[in-house]
Amino acid sequence: MKHDYGDCYFCGGEVVEKSIELEFRWEGQLYILEEVPVGICQQCGEKYFTAEVSEAIDEAIKSGEVKRMVNVPVKELKLMRV
Ligand SMILES: [Zn+2]
Repeated sequence: MKHDYGDCYFCGGEVVEKSIELEFRWEGQLYILEEVPVGICQQCGEKYFTAEVSEAIDEAIKSGEVKRMVNVPVKELKLMRV
């Protein structure tokens, strides 16, 4: 059963649940969480997490279990200065 998020707190838009990939930084380490159910406002894109999901995210980050590792390319921004 999907959670009823109600209307967006900021713009009153409709909030629809989607499964997304979430990037999360904790203690200097970047984590990627897959298939996170999040309520997303159709108008402004604001994200809403249920208490249950927030707790599960917290637990996933703190547990030592890792599903798989990915390499993340880091790019240097080179600005042209004239
Ligand atoms: Zn909104």
